[in-house]
Amino acid sequence: MSQKYVPTSHEAYPHDTLLSLAYDWERVADPGIPPRWPFRVYLPRGTDDVVRAVNETRERGERLIVRGHAHSSNNLVTGEGASVLLTDRMNQIIDVDERAETCTIQSGAILAQVDAHLARRGWGLSIIGDHDHITAGGFASVGGISPASHRFGLFVDTVTELEYVDWDGQTHTCGRERDPDRFHRVLAGTGRQGVITWMTVAIVRVDKYRTILRNHRLITTSLDDYIRRTAALIRDPGDALMERGVWADFPVPGGRVRLGQFSSYHRTPQNPLKSLANSVAYGYQQFLGYWAGRLPAAVDQAVKYMGMAAIMFSPLYANGKNIERFTDQVLDATVGDPTRMLVVLAPADQYEPLFRRLYETAVEERRTSGGITFISVYVKAIRSAYLSRGDDSRRHCELMLYFGVNPEQMTEKILERLVERVDDLVIEHGGFRYMHSRTSSDPDRRKLVDPNHLYAEDAATPPRKR
Ligand SMILES: Cc1cc2nc3c(=O)[nH]c(=O)nc-3n(C[C@H](O)[C@H](O)[C@H](O)COP(=O)(O)OP(=O)(O)OC[C@H]3O[C@@H](n4cnc5c(N)ncnc54)[C@H](O)[C@@H]3O)c2cc1C
Repeated sequence: MSQKYVPTSHEAYPHDTLLSLAYDWERVADPGIPPRWPFRVYLPRGTDDVVRAVNETRERGERLIVRGHAHSSNNLVTGEGASVLLTDRMNQIIDVDERAETCTIQSGAILAQVDAHLARRGWGLSIIGDHDHITAGGFASVGGISPASHRFGLFVDTVTELEYVDWDGQTHTCGRERDPDRFHRVLAGTGRQGVITWMTVAIVRVDKYRTILRNHRLITTSLDDYIRRTAALIRDPGDALMERGVWADFPVPGGRVRLGQFSSYHRTPQNPLKSLANSVAYGYQQFLGYWAGRLPAAVDQAVKYMGMAAIMFSPLYANGKNIERFTDQVLDATVGDPTRMLVVLAPADQYEPLFRRLYETAVEERRTSGGITFISVYVKAIRSAYLSRGDDSRRHCELMLYFGVNPEQMTEKILERLVERVDDLVIEHGGFRYMHSRTSSDPDRRKLVDPNHLYAEDAATPPRKR
């Protein structure tokens, strides 16, 4: 039986080939990077198998690398000659408890599939990534941001309990009430504490497919105007149910096009015309997404520009699912220039200076090294107990520097310099890096930018005020 095709943002790089095991998402930034082939691969189906894999690896004196679907690009899930544990077979939905408003899933479960399962019962995940292949364990091990993060926080804020196997082969269950210090150390821990086997996640009553929201859209060509107006929306989203924005700077013959858009999605009275508007607009985007990555290169590139235009002029009416999956269903990251993301999680009151300085850094790098082609800065508001250590008065935001790469010019040395400059800005402005994207590799510097270090055993006094 043929299956319905689902657009993917990386037509060229499937997850289920042997070759995929030798790469992480860095390959999208540099298609020429050498593969790092593992020597041994484990495919556990549950806790007992994980304990066995951990014990075997320890007895050989090796480190075990935990790998979801490798959407990270910070050298976290690959290793030359390494032992790698894949969570692919630990992909079951264990329980949906409607009374407790939770679901319990194995760590290899694909969150988009969990959300689809919940949707059939009138429930959904409050926080989910915009890409359909992200795993629960991977998302919980980095943080997890969505356009609803100003209401529900990071994905880790919605996890209530989990089980993991530590590197001594011991199994622990911990949660918000039960051993919270341990629990917080595992969350956003990029696999350093052990292997998460299952987790319980809060769910919400929602109809992501039929409820239509109204997009209060901001579009401007002025950088100052963009930063000033989005700063207000990031700091105070009001009654927006979802929100997100992007500033884009594209070189074109004879100059560059600069345009910013920000969408705040609000409740609106429902009627069939709005549903139709949603279906037509997103049908068009999915049509672009369907073809992206499947056409001759030049046409693919044109489709990509049409996709970017569709993002900038995002539709006035949208259902929650289309808002969550917005960029993923229209753009293929493996088409056109290679791309890289460097993600910053900043205190909301540092949004303006950090936005400006991150963007200026990228513009300067483009001018001096030529290693960068287009530049965009994606932004979202975040209200996270994890990032603020439970201080509800503190707000954060995501600033994602997403740029096109010219691989000949973007040498490793230039990339390292750029990453260090981003880390420096983050340290200066009291922010964090989102650790799935490339950071400096020096452990002391990493501590300074890693939100998980707030909960580390040696972090009784956090290194600096956030
Ligand atoms: C196209 C694309 C779209 C994205 N969209 C979003 C988005 O909307 N929001 C957002 O927040 N992020 C987004 N991301 C980033 C994504 O959340 C991270 O890449 C993250 O790493 C999850 O991917 P993964 O499940 O493939 O995990 P991997 O990259 O495989 O793993 C990430 C980390 O988690 C660890 N890990 C994985 N499973 C386990 C486990 N069971 N136990 C312990 N450690 C584990 C790994 O060791 C590694 O350190 C996106 C990335 C891409 C490429």
